[in-house]
Amino acid sequence: MSNNNGQNKINGNKEEEKQIISRPPIVVVLGHIDHGKTSLLDYIRKTNVTQKESGGITQRIGAYEAEYQNKKITFIDTPGHESFSVMRSRGTEIADIAILVIAADEGVKSQTKEVISIIKEKNIPFIVAINKIDKPQANPEKVKRELAKENILVESMGGEVPCVETSAKTGKGVNDLLDLIQIMAEIQGLTGSLNKPGQGVVLESYLDSKKGPTATLIIRDGVLKMGDIIATPGTLGKVRLLKDFQGNDILQAIPSQPCFMLGFEKIPQVGKQFQTFSNMEEARSFIQNNQTETSTPQELEPNNHINNSENKKSMNLILKLDFMGSKEAIEDILNKLPSDKVNLNIVNIGIGDISESDIKLAEATHAKIIGFRVKTSPVISQLAKQKSITVLTFDILYNLYKGIYHLMEMALKPKVVEEEIGRLKTLVVFRTEKNRQIIGGKVIQGYVTKGLLVNIIRNDQKIGQGKIISIQKNKKNIEKGQKGEEIGILYEGSTRIQEDDILVFYLKKVEKESLS
Ligand code: GDP
Repeated sequence: MSNNNGQNKINGNKEEEKQIISRPPIVVVLGHIDHGKTSLLDYIRKTNVTQKESGGITQRIGAYEAEYQNKKITFIDTPGHESFSVMRSRGTEIADIAILVIAADEGVKSQTKEVISIIKEKNIPFIVAINKIDKPQANPEKVKRELAKENILVESMGGEVPCVETSAKTGKGVNDLLDLIQIMAEIQGLTGSLNKPGQGVVLESYLDSKKGPTATLIIRDGVLKMGDIIATPGTLGKVRLLKDFQGNDILQAIPSQPCFMLGFEKIPQVGKQFQTFSNMEEARSFIQNNQTETSTPQELEPNNHINNSENKKSMNLILKLDFMGSKEAIEDILNKLPSDKVNLNIVNIGIGDISESDIKLAEATHAKIIGFRVKTSPVISQLAKQKSITVLTFDILYNLYKGIYHLMEMALKPKVVEEEIGRLKTLVVFRTEKNRQIIGGKVIQGYVTKGLLVNIIRNDQKIGQGKIISIQKNKKNIEKGQKGEEIGILYEGSTRIQEDDILVFYLKKVEKESLS
């Protein structure tokens, strides 16, 4: 058995008090897609999880324990899951602390706002991590101002919300984040009991074709032991295998500890509470008393009507799932996808591996095939390739979300934007030819190089555009004119530049249009 939770027992006189331990904080990482949640979790896992046993590659179970300055922190490691299922499940407040990740170059986006409202609703203490701080376009001050608009005032702006600038790429600021988590946990004074029956939350579950229903649990309080009778709304069982997050067999799991378990009769629902009971009768009556919670997921009706009314793009999907129980989670995911610019039409939902008839249907309906925990045989992959049909399969809900999100983004036309490089005030026009001019001016902002495109601004109005052919200073060609310098410019374009015109130099950049 490895019960290596290095937590300090709080000294007490009574026997019962001795059984109260301080427990590690349970931390959830939330934020907009692509803002770096997975990367931050991976970085912390890589740098703060000591490899206890060399059992080869351990399967991710949806949570891990990091150790920082000799204290543990439990991280929930399924960013999609907890935002789509766990966090939104009724009565579930598994996280002691939330990390709100916001990319320093993108700032507050639609899902950031959603997360803010969940955090506020559940009243979870949180830390803002302004991530991707290594990027040249990073603008943490702008992010803080955007947060202020959402009524979140960070400490440096006179508020109370701790904020740290991080890079999941270089690791900058990650230790500061871990420090903040531990300070926050200490303030909360989190404790758990070692002489109570175990209780907690189902974090992940799936049906393993060989092992049967599997579950990842997080213990909120008490101890879960091998052989315990366990129930959650909808199913019960006897714990017949327990593993820690690194895949080591354990005999018991203690407060805040994530564990992998076998023994449920049916697949338990993610996000539900579980409890342990002294006998099967009690477990059964618990399930009966929670009948309302156990209703089978609503059938997800294929949505065949195509809405082109708002000139929206639309994308047809065929979904193949491992078993009907996955529908609820998938439905949740589809509802969370932004629908402002691309409509998703579910042409069909089926159970089982991707087949030839799915390919035929996809061909007839111009649909993409999305599989969740199902397989595609080489023959079917070949057929799909021949017919240019997109087939994507996923094992993790969040990856499925991201996969569909990126497909939707690809359906949008890329946007061409002008990135301003510098400005020049025209002081003199030296020469004017057919469609060329030589002018002199002072760089008042940024810089200018040859080849840049230029907008000509007169009385605050854009009156034309052209291109910079070459730049001169003191009659010599130069590569770059910097702010403050007086330079000569050979310009090409049909608009005639005059004294006092402002020339705005820019580059054309192709940006993917964002869905939200
Ligand atoms: P998630 O959707 O929030 O989990 O985001 P990911 O962790 O998958 O990150 C999305 C993309 O941003 C990936 O290409 C990452 O490599 C990149 N990324 C994440 N964190 C950083 C960072 O701190 N700096 C830089 N430069 N890139 C990052």
